[in-house]
Amino acid sequence: MSGKKISFVIPVYNEEAVLPILIRRLGLLLAKLDAPAEVIFVDDGGKDAGGVYLAELARNDPRYRYIALSRNFGHQVAITAGMEAATGDAVIVMDADLQDPPEVALELVAKWREGYEIVYARRERREGETVFKRWTASAFYRVVAKLSRVEIPRDVGDFRLVDRAALDAFLKMPEQNRFVRGMFAWVGFRQAEVLYRREARAAGVTHYPLRKMLSLAGSAIVSFSDAPLRLALWFGTLVSLGAMGYGAYVLVRALFWSDGLVEGWASTILITSFLSGINLLMTGIVGVYVGRIYSEAKRRPLYLVSRKIGFDAEERVAPVRSVAS
Ligand code: UDP
Ligand code: MG
Repeated sequence: MSGKKISFVIPVYNEEAVLPILIRRLGLLLAKLDAPAEVIFVDDGGKDAGGVYLAELARNDPRYRYIALSRNFGHQVAITAGMEAATGDAVIVMDADLQDPPEVALELVAKWREGYEIVYARRERREGETVFKRWTASAFYRVVAKLSRVEIPRDVGDFRLVDRAALDAFLKMPEQNRFVRGMFAWVGFRQAEVLYRREARAAGVTHYPLRKMLSLAGSAIVSFSDAPLRLALWFGTLVSLGAMGYGAYVLVRALFWSDGLVEGWASTILITSFLSGINLLMTGIVGVYVGRIYSEAKRRPLYLVSRKIGFDAEERVAPVRSVAS
């Protein structure tokens, strides 16, 4: 069993503060792991010194590899880039900030060896995050679970192990707007979970401000659910039925009671503005989906790589370590 290789994929975006701790913890993990392994760092267009550090590491240590994307493509795309480059029989995706404790990887591997093809790590507790983050995250998982047609496990981020079979299925999905955890729920296979405590960030600050969280939530809902479109349909039907009823009433009234036909200014304004508001809203919902179709139709590459280090044995320079001090 130990002949099977494991690839770690770690997205990194301006994380220079955590890198020394991360490398130390990874070193300990790799020593405990009874299997050949590689660690792929995907630099998602970071602007700090982290890239230099990781490139150097990949040049000198055969266990580490480095891919730099040409700009910031976002967490979900960075993970995809790393998984595409991975050569292992299984891939483990892990955050760089040590919120996903590397030791949990050993439990993921154990489950994998029991025969599961996707082993996800479910957060039992979250440490060191604001009440707002915990609350929004929890609301997010519940809304997505309600709306989506595939069963997306709750409180599961991107920390997971994926067997080659499931990985190849995932890599065949070319969509631009990626919600990786949903895509892995969609591919099926035998899935298992491992519980863990989500730690506080080891250093640095989050790169998921509210704006990015909302965009991830948008991707999740629009990519995995047509509930907003169905809502538009139902709401549109309901409102038109109401309008028809009212139209009939006005007609009957005009025909049989020719009383004050000029009255009703307030109701006219009310109804007109209500209907045009609903109209705009529903058109907007449809527009969101049209926008998605447009971005998929362009068929642009998902990401661009500016540098790759440590993937060919020849390009790696032999480590020169000076003993003199
Ligand atoms: N990340 C990335 N690109 C981005 C934002 C984040 O590659 O545009 C990486 C980041 O370096 C970290 C992981 O994705 O390894 C999770 O991000 P973060 O810890 O900032 O999010 P949080 O845990 O606060 O949700
Ligand atoms: Mg984090």
